[in-house]
Amino acid sequence: MRSAPADHEAAHAERRSGPVELLGLDRPRLAAFFDALGEKRFRARQMMQWLHQRHVYDFDQMTDLSKGLRQRLREHARVGLPEVAADQQASDGTRKWVVRLADGNCVEAVYIPEPKRGTLCVSSQAGRPMGCTFCATGDGGFSRNLSAAEIVGQVHIARQRLPEGAITNIVFMGMGEPLLNFDPVISAARVFTDDYGFVLSKRRVTISTSGVVHAIERMQRVIDVSLAVSLHAPNNELRDQLVPLNRKNPLERLLPACHAYIADKPHRRITWEYVMLDGVNDQEEHARELIERLRGIPSKVNLIPFNPYPGARYGRSPARQVRRFADRLLENGLTATIRDTRGDDIDGACGQLVGEIRDARPSKVAGPA
Ligand code: SAH
Repeated sequence: MRSAPADHEAAHAERRSGPVELLGLDRPRLAAFFDALGEKRFRARQMMQWLHQRHVYDFDQMTDLSKGLRQRLREHARVGLPEVAADQQASDGTRKWVVRLADGNCVEAVYIPEPKRGTLCVSSQAGRPMGCTFCATGDGGFSRNLSAAEIVGQVHIARQRLPEGAITNIVFMGMGEPLLNFDPVISAARVFTDDYGFVLSKRRVTISTSGVVHAIERMQRVIDVSLAVSLHAPNNELRDQLVPLNRKNPLERLLPACHAYIADKPHRRITWEYVMLDGVNDQEEHARELIERLRGIPSKVNLIPFNPYPGARYGRSPARQVRRFADRLLENGLTATIRDTRGDDIDGACGQLVGEIRDARPSKVAGPA
């Protein structure tokens, strides 16, 4: 092996811990890996096509690679998909996979078909790190970051089980806070948009964050995909309660960082997610405050009817109230949409992902505790 330049994480990783997992490596990282193997960097393109476009994972079937290279790949690299612990389909066509990682942790990926698009929602961490008070994802606290391969692997699992072209959009809205697992999430997002990867346009890949300001600033320097922010409240007092991260990342810092992220990208908007909690953040005064707060920032507000789960301390705003809130925003020039509730009957709706197999029988998943 040739020695690798400093930024060649893939090569370093290999020397540290045996074979390199190739599935999650973006093109620069894969090129660095081949470089360190003494191979041409363009091998990265061939490898990505085999993996992500042909779904061939066995080096011996990669016929445009020499026998010698295939042999070295067997020694220095590996490709592994996580296991599917459960595969469930809701009556509305929403599909959920419980994905078991090598260490036994489970995460969930959800596919939501709509007339003109199909969205795959992927998880970035096992467990729930943020302590949001309205989210069902595990009360057992945080377990660990997913590797880039474990994130990309969720897409492979879904693609293998869906018709060709079914996935038109990928959103990091499953379990976990993507921006607290920065490098793997960015690497995976690059695989999603790469011409030799999944070839999705940057507008069709969305990173959703509870608002980690320093990471939003960093994102601006390294990637250009859509940004959604879980706002949920128009003032710090309320947001501190709903999204505890707000105490260290208050709106005065969050909003300018988001604005800056799209400032140099024409025709782009921030999507603000706003979960409608009955009597908590859904009143006329909240709409007014929200309109003031977002003034000047190209925005789209996505109102999400709260999805209840056993033990939840909030209720869902009545549809009438959600409509009224949306109308208020629209009258004031904001774009506002109301999110459909999908996959309710398999606990596949927003905030219902738990990632735990509580029943030993195969393909049966119990609801959240
Ligand atoms: N941590 C990231 C992504 C995961 S959650 C984030 O916070 O953006 C995806 C979206 O679902 C977020 O907007 C989240 O606030 C919302 N959500 C969480 N629990 C919910 C629930 N019970 N009902 C409706 N939406 C919920």
